Amino acid sequence: MKKTISLLLFFCIISAFSGQISAQTMPKDADKKLWEKALQIQRKAVIVDGHNDITSPMVDEDLDLSANTVGKFHRDGDPFHTDLARFKASGITAEFFSIYVSGTDYQKGGKMRRAMELIDATNREIEKHPAQLTACTTAADIRQAKKQNKICALMGIEGGYVIENSLYALRNFYRLGIRYMTLTHNVSHDWADAHRGEVKNNGLSDFGKEVVREMNRLGMLVDISHVSDKVMNDVLDISTAPVIASHSGARGVANHTRNVPDDVLKRVAKNGGVIMINFYPSFLDERTNREENERSAKLKSQIDGLREIYKNDPNGFNEAERKLLNENPIYIASYTRIVDHIDHIKKTVGIDYVGLGSDFDGVPFLPEGMNGMEDLVLVTYEMLKRGYSETEIRKVLGENFLRAFAQAEAVAKIGTRKISADGSLKKIGK
Ligand SMILES: [Zn+2]
Repeated sequence: MKKTISLLLFFCIISAFSGQISAQTMPKDADKKLWEKALQIQRKAVIVDGHNDITSPMVDEDLDLSANTVGKFHRDGDPFHTDLARFKASGITAEFFSIYVSGTDYQKGGKMRRAMELIDATNREIEKHPAQLTACTTAADIRQAKKQNKICALMGIEGGYVIENSLYALRNFYRLGIRYMTLTHNVSHDWADAHRGEVKNNGLSDFGKEVVREMNRLGMLVDISHVSDKVMNDVLDISTAPVIASHSGARGVANHTRNVPDDVLKRVAKNGGVIMINFYPSFLDERTNREENERSAKLKSQIDGLREIYKNDPNGFNEAERKLLNENPIYIASYTRIVDHIDHIKKTVGIDYVGLGSDFDGVPFLPEGMNGMEDLVLVTYEMLKRGYSETEIRKVLGENFLRAFAQAEAVAKIGTRKISADGSLKKIGK
């Protein structure tokens, strides 16, 4: 990987609270003036990231966010992208900690308990690091945190099965601070179909539609990442509030079911929602996706063999697997590909409907040139390079999301529905 780490103190952010130093990776041949301008915008802007999976190791590996994760690996062998110093270096104002419950947990049970563990872990990090982190649940909270120079921790559920088919549970998750719910993960469930799962409901079931209406009433954003195209369209038929794709790209650039097709893009723009671009190179770029799949198929028997050899030594397995993957490199799309997706959305529906949804700590590798959160400024730099104005950049970094979030809060206040005695919903007017 070609990267130039600037030794200039200017590019280093010394973390006052941990003594760590995090440096952004300045691109080789960077225009210094433009780079400075990018760093300046990064400091001034309200920056919101739609999805971060650091929550899982906070539970499974007892990870404290003050630990230095640079160059370290998750239990499953994937590299870490997040810690408090890296948060600080990224310039981020608000991060959505993913309350992610896997399809396996869904099938074996215990999904609501798993969500509770992840919510608790998020809150404990906020309690442990009050000078750096603050709990946020509204668009106003995010703006306030920016003024206080703190980082907002917000939460979003990933996998609608977490509510265990209960609107009572959905409401309690809202009360616990959940502000979006991705209706599925990769498997279809009782009331919604996933992007690559079986067709169980032909989109959203009647109960699934009730869930969307109740989320509108509460002010919980409906997230259409991971769902089937039919679910995307069903949601857009029903939702009275803006929707988000918390971590998906544009299918017009990379044809992957995890990305949003142009026809849906146009509907999201009409709805006032935001597509928050996922940084995973296999979603950003078809060549990376193809080569990654080919490599997995080619190495499958070798990896199975390693799994057998290291069955009692997970660290040994991870190391051996990583070595094998490194010996079989694939094309990894550059961070500039993120801005290709932003460009596409800008050209198709306008600059007002695109944001960032990194998927940090939820993906096995990041785009070429990007090592972790600290390198978020690269996206700003690339937008500047392509002639985006500061206003446009700030929209992408956070303002578009804040507009959609505030609008969803306003829809909730209108309160067009009420809860009937049996816990179901009754329409009371429009
Ligand atoms: Zn995801």
